[in-house]
Amino acid sequence: EILLEVKDLSAAIAESKQPILKGVNLSVYEGEVHVVMGKNGSGKSTFAKVLVGHPDYEVTGGSIVFKGENVLDMDPEERSLAGLFMSFQSPIEIPGVSNIDFLQMAYNARRRKLGQPELSPIEFYGYISPKLELVNMKVDFLNRNVNEGFSGGERKRNEIFQLAVLGADLAILDEIDSGLDVDALRDVAKAVNGILTAKNSVLMITHYHRLLDYVKPTYVHIMEGGRIVETGKESVAKRIEKEGYNAIPAA
Ligand code: ADP
Ligand code: MG
Ligand code: MG
Repeated sequence: EILLEVKDLSAAIAESKQPILKGVNLSVYEGEVHVVMGKNGSGKSTFAKVLVGHPDYEVTGGSIVFKGENVLDMDPEERSLAGLFMSFQSPIEIPGVSNIDFLQMAYNARRRKLGQPELSPIEFYGYISPKLELVNMKVDFLNRNVNEGFSGGERKRNEIFQLAVLGADLAILDEIDSGLDVDALRDVAKAVNGILTAKNSVLMITHYHRLLDYVKPTYVHIMEGGRIVETGKESVAKRIEKEGYNAIPAA
């Protein structure tokens, strides 16, 4: 089944009205892994932020439909409650608040809004334990304070873990691979693979091809000048690796 359908999407910076996205088309089905690659400044992050409804941008044309609903009528919170969300980097450490408390608050707030009963601490622990394994986090991580003493790789895995706990149907990961050494990258890739099921999908944005050594994409898209100018299988990424982004014809 189709999860996300983006048609001719245009968007501008809200303040300056400067156009950034210039007609993006993308369809994502359940169980797929989509990778968006492109030069710095090609509009990848803008695309991600527009999908989740970031207020810095204004949609000037086209449509975004998620699970059959017009996303453009929904605010960011409604989108996330519908299952469309981007991992949020929380670089701040929160003294005195453990990861498990933080996650339980976020998850129960979500359940309240969805009209579902909150989980008790014991129920919540039962719910998240198997998910910890999926992203290869040790249990002691839960009792540490939010982001305290996390390595770069742990921070990224924590972002993926949050998406798994909160229940993203389409998880958007922007530059989840940036600044990681090879070992951390492999762990993060494992975590991405861990949260994939036949039902949910991932949209990963990256500048580099090395992530694709570990996560097998269903499709690779190349963004250039605010458009997706090429879509293909892994071979597209391989060609970029060999020839660089200059091998991509201008839109
Ligand atoms: P990418 O993620 O592919 O590197 P971005 O989406 O971050 O590209 O940026 C695309 C272009 O839009 C860049 O030229 C960037 O400077 C510009 N841009 C994006 N967001 C803003 C903003 N909020 N204010 C000013 N310029 C922006
Ligand atoms: Mg950039
Ligand atoms: Mg970016």
